[in-house]
Amino acid sequence: MIAALKNLEGFRAGVRDWLAANLPADWQQHMLGASEEAHIAFQKSWFRTLAAGGFVAPHWPVAWGGAGLSFAEQIVLYEEIARAGAPRLVLYFISLYHAPATLLEWGTDAQRRKHLPAILSGDEIWCQGFSEPNAGSDLAGLRTRAERRGDHYIVNGQKIWSSNAQYARYCLLLARTDPSAAKHKGISYFILDLESPGVTRRPIGMMTGGSHFCELFFDDVAIPAENLIGAENNGWAVAQATLSSERGLTILELTERLRNSFGLLLRDARQRGLVADDEVRRRLVELHTRIEALRVMINNMLGRMLHGAGVGTEPSIIKVHYSELLQDFTELGVRLGGLEAQYLQPILMGGGYETGYWMHDHLYSWSWTIAGGSNEVQRNIIAERALNLPREPKLALAK
Ligand SMILES: Cc1cc2nc3c(=O)[nH]c(=O)nc-3n(C[C@H](O)[C@H](O)[C@H](O)COP(=O)(O)OP(=O)(O)OC[C@H]3O[C@@H](n4cnc5c(N)ncnc54)[C@H](O)[C@@H]3O)c2cc1C
Repeated sequence: MIAALKNLEGFRAGVRDWLAANLPADWQQHMLGASEEAHIAFQKSWFRTLAAGGFVAPHWPVAWGGAGLSFAEQIVLYEEIARAGAPRLVLYFISLYHAPATLLEWGTDAQRRKHLPAILSGDEIWCQGFSEPNAGSDLAGLRTRAERRGDHYIVNGQKIWSSNAQYARYCLLLARTDPSAAKHKGISYFILDLESPGVTRRPIGMMTGGSHFCELFFDDVAIPAENLIGAENNGWAVAQATLSSERGLTILELTERLRNSFGLLLRDARQRGLVADDEVRRRLVELHTRIEALRVMINNMLGRMLHGAGVGTEPSIIKVHYSELLQDFTELGVRLGGLEAQYLQPILMGGGYETGYWMHDHLYSWSWTIAGGSNEVQRNIIAERALNLPREPKLALAK
């Protein structure tokens, strides 16, 4: 046990040294307000740097070119990446987590051989096409249709909120193959080449000024039958591999970034002569306490995962806690920043969600109470599964 801990600390020191030697120290200054093209180019170059260091796919098995790090080592790696303020690989999130988790658990060998090396070399960017205009929280209500014709499926329908789809080549697609089956049972899971005829991508403008995601339209799009992942009509089971792929490490990294950014709030409070203000002090202490409490909750969850135990409703509790904390944190930033913080500042792709450019940070923070399952839905999960409260009246909501 002690030897394992020593090894882990040795690994931490190695990661720290590597980051000190390879992280462009002033990347935030260079990239703040840069063009979209420059952001994408910088994401790609950071991907290549991480790949050269062996850190781009820490969780992938060695057999597929990953680093095969233990879960404990991955925790250390993400702690150090956050501590160093290194860019987040936002452009590659689906490619590095959701796509390989799905292919490794459910894909064919041919699908793995075609796509995993191409992802690892940075040649393939993926996005996720699950949500639809009337199927987000109620994902199983999706209506995009895939009909088998010979050795192809013909797809018609629409997806929405597909992150980074404007840059992606492939899409993890859920579509209905049996409309007569119960809604969870008639769905199949496909690899869709976004360059296929009949696909239209339309970026969605956000209130922050950027376009993080797209609408996708499918008009008689042909998908080869060999691109089906898992059996026809078993897509709901396959989707569970996608949705549980990142195992708490994203929230760990984001919480560490929040912790490290606390100094930005103190900086602004000092600059405005507000550190002695009772209300400001009360809010600073409250936020600090909530950050530390969140870190304890995450530690408990990761500890259980390290020992192979189930985590129940902990991810829901942690997601509600993190997203509401982030909103309050950035809202205090806007208040402390005064007038200068009121206008919309430039975007920093791949930064944390609390860059100190508070208006942008605060507006963006709202996405966290929606993405990955809204907080209302998370609260339903906590109420029903952790507290054993009565189930919500589904029929009324389904209308
Ligand atoms: C930044 C961001 C990135 C995203 N990226 C992707 C992506 O890459 N791919 C993808 O497929 N999707 C993506 N999404 C979509 C995301 O998964 C959905 O927005 C989310 O599941 C909520 O669905 P919805 O937007 O349809 O809202 P709805 O389900 O229509 O909900 C609307 C409101 O009703 C509430 N509500 C719904 N059902 C209940 C209920 N049963 N009880 C109480 N309240 C309820 C919700 O909480 C919400 O406030 C992204 C979203 C965001 C914000």
